[in-house]
Amino acid sequence: KESSSKENNVAKIKVVVRKRPLNKKELARKEDDIVTVYDNALTVLEPKLKVDLTAYVEKHEFCFDAVLDERVTNDEVYRVTVEPIIPTIFQRTKATCFAYGQTGSGKTFTMQPLPLRAAEDLVRLLRQPVYHNQRFKLWLSFFEIYGGKLFDLLSERKKLCMREDGRQQVCIVGLQEFEVSDVQIVKEYIERGNAARSTGSTGANEESSRSHAILQLAVKKHSEVKDSRRNNDVNESKSGKVVGKISFIDLAGSERGADTTDNDRQTRIEGAEINKSLLALKECIRALDNDQIHIPFRGSKLTEVLRDSFVGNSRTVMISCISPNAGSCEHTLNTLRYADRVK
Ligand code: ADP
Ligand code: MG
Repeated sequence: KESSSKENNVAKIKVVVRKRPLNKKELARKEDDIVTVYDNALTVLEPKLKVDLTAYVEKHEFCFDAVLDERVTNDEVYRVTVEPIIPTIFQRTKATCFAYGQTGSGKTFTMQPLPLRAAEDLVRLLRQPVYHNQRFKLWLSFFEIYGGKLFDLLSERKKLCMREDGRQQVCIVGLQEFEVSDVQIVKEYIERGNAARSTGSTGANEESSRSHAILQLAVKKHSEVKDSRRNNDVNESKSGKVVGKISFIDLAGSERGADTTDNDRQTRIEGAEINKSLLALKECIRALDNDQIHIPFRGSKLTEVLRDSFVGNSRTVMISCISPNAGSCEHTLNTLRYADRVK
């Protein structure tokens, strides 16, 4: 009784906006900061021109579950978004935490520390006798969706495919999962996976902005007989039953969905795929929010992969990242409108 009431106190869907500070380039250009945060609301002052070319501003107001301004640290982001969900993972919850926004708005900056902090908390809980005695263990996997295809970021970018089993469970064939019992190992896997993202060695945002990176932490219950192996193929593995899990998703740059008229064919294909996945994601979250029985997860690879996280006992946190500079106004408004419709 007590645990279920606790669990119900965690909102099923939470939409949080995070504003980053102006960067050096924007400061050097003396760009205006057009985003002002008040409590859980914000305003955007959109610079506009009349037909006679006189300048004016149009004010847009939005309200969300939480709005985090440029002074908020990653630790505070964790406390607002992921921390409340952690205990529910032991109660059969599948949770998903997304970072949405244009390239350069702070998605990766926001997402990178979250799985590590979550793993810290999960590992601590798993060491408690109640879970330890039940042979609960933590498993990690990390993969990428790029141009509608899946790649294992912890296994030399091996190409993966997806399969549905008889009980309509999605499995990703060949995805490597690693048992993690301390946080240092988690850190190493995250670094390894990030290095394997389709960014090239330049560290440029260009390529990673076209892919969705998905890091999953799963709590599994192991039977007495099987010993824990370090490294296991998910689908071969009978060594544990998933109790609950949390997925951290660094989405492709939201502006990439508009690359559908680009001259380069590959860019167009990728843009169309990104556009499809971000639209499908929005539809799925809205369906969840309305407690619809039918969740339109077949709309894209991204939502198909997340299928088991959209049914049953799920929790979703959307972190919408926005840039504060006047030059990003259009993208910022698009991001806020997307987040508004999700809610
Ligand atoms: P994205 O992943 O959305 O393309 P990044 O996370 O790579 O964007 O952020 C772009 C740049 O802005 C990076 O140099 C990052 O360190 C910086 N940045 C983003 N958010 C913040 C923040 N809240 N505070 C300080 N710097 C930030
Ligand atoms: Mg990024």
